[in-house]
Amino acid sequence: MSTAPSTSSRLWLRAPQAIFTANDLDARGGLVIEGNRIVECLAPGQQPTAPCDVIFDARDHVVLPGLINTHHHFYQTLTRAWAPVVNQPLFPWLKTLYPVWARLTPEALALASRVALAELLLSGCTTAADHHYLFPDGMDEAIDIQVDAVDELGMRAMLSRGSMSLGEADGGLPPQHTVQKAQTILDDSERLIRRYHQRGDGARVQIALAPCSPFSVTPEIMRESAALAEHHDVRLHTHLAETLDEEAFCLKCFGMRTVDYLDSVGWLGPRTWLAHGIHFNDDEIHRLGKAGVGVCHCPCSNMRLASGICPTLELEAAGVTVGLGVDGSASGDTSNMMIEARQAMYLQRLRYGAERVTPQRALGWATRGSARLLGRDDIGQLAPGKQADLALFKLDELRFSGSHDPLAALLLCAADRADRVMVGGEWRVVDGQIVDLDLVGLITAHRRAAHQLVAG
Ligand SMILES: [Zn+2]
Repeated sequence: MSTAPSTSSRLWLRAPQAIFTANDLDARGGLVIEGNRIVECLAPGQQPTAPCDVIFDARDHVVLPGLINTHHHFYQTLTRAWAPVVNQPLFPWLKTLYPVWARLTPEALALASRVALAELLLSGCTTAADHHYLFPDGMDEAIDIQVDAVDELGMRAMLSRGSMSLGEADGGLPPQHTVQKAQTILDDSERLIRRYHQRGDGARVQIALAPCSPFSVTPEIMRESAALAEHHDVRLHTHLAETLDEEAFCLKCFGMRTVDYLDSVGWLGPRTWLAHGIHFNDDEIHRLGKAGVGVCHCPCSNMRLASGICPTLELEAAGVTVGLGVDGSASGDTSNMMIEARQAMYLQRLRYGAERVTPQRALGWATRGSARLLGRDDIGQLAPGKQADLALFKLDELRFSGSHDPLAALLLCAADRADRVMVGGEWRVVDGQIVDLDLVGLITAHRRAAHQLVAG
């Protein structure tokens, strides 16, 4: 078997054990990759149309499109499984954590971002969205720090310039010293779009605008972020309808439910994707579908905080795109897209039954659905013309012994680590290890930073 580290020329990933294309193409004969793109999907027995420089024998691999994570808070890897909040629901969990998070430093964020990205990459994730809304003193360049981490890991990212502008003094949830002025937020949003946002196929870094949630920002910043996103043609992201506490907050402070609030600030449109999207009535689901809003389902976080169950199939039936997210690591704790896909399948089976929520459906959310949430057509599927973003898994561990359907085995037997991952034609994970990363050194430094942050 060839172990060529990259595919600058023409590579045939030949006849995998199984392959999930996230569409109707039969690619059991494998994929041909030229540069950063897939150029052919081969049916069984079919040969490439032209000779290939490298042949990768994939008979021992199950191949997926690179998984796409559409909601995270990288910095929260510093507060995983923190005892004071292990058994708290959202609002008390947030109120306890805000003062700890407010001590975030640039060095700690750099380590946290690398840890989150490395963990995602090892789980088969090739594109990651992050929602960073903490900009205490000294953290003005938080997103710039994250761009460096994405470059270092060789992944793709949608980095959301988050914001908090409604502090406790004005009726919001976060402490006053963690919120920013509207103009500061908007100026930085514009700077980041101009500096980093790439457009078109193959984009590595994109910027979205992401006021944190109804209970931590003013309607003014919601409206102005929407206008700025429209002006620059970038996406909008926020948390919505995560808990009933949030619904009560909106009724009390704005005199309306969450979707009415979203509508009132100009966010009910195809540019918007929401994290969680749990507590909707039928009319609201219909309105979200009609408007083309997307929803990122975060099952692990929703179960940990006991927030509720996202109505995924009703949302899809109404025309809402559904994707997946691991959420921040203070509530999702692991940044593992395979674990998230497994939990999505199981949680949604409780709501809709075993027959309707198949492994293919859950993996479709983690790939094609997630790509659509990020406004991307060039990733999330295996087809000619798409980016060569791939996750390859081996079924040689004890947990898979005796399994039959390889694709089902990935989720049912709990695959959690890819053997190989390719981003834009480059192998970034080989033999279960990230190329060019000192993982032990990273863990040592990150653990130290986590202890310091919590100790104060
Ligand atoms: Zn979140």
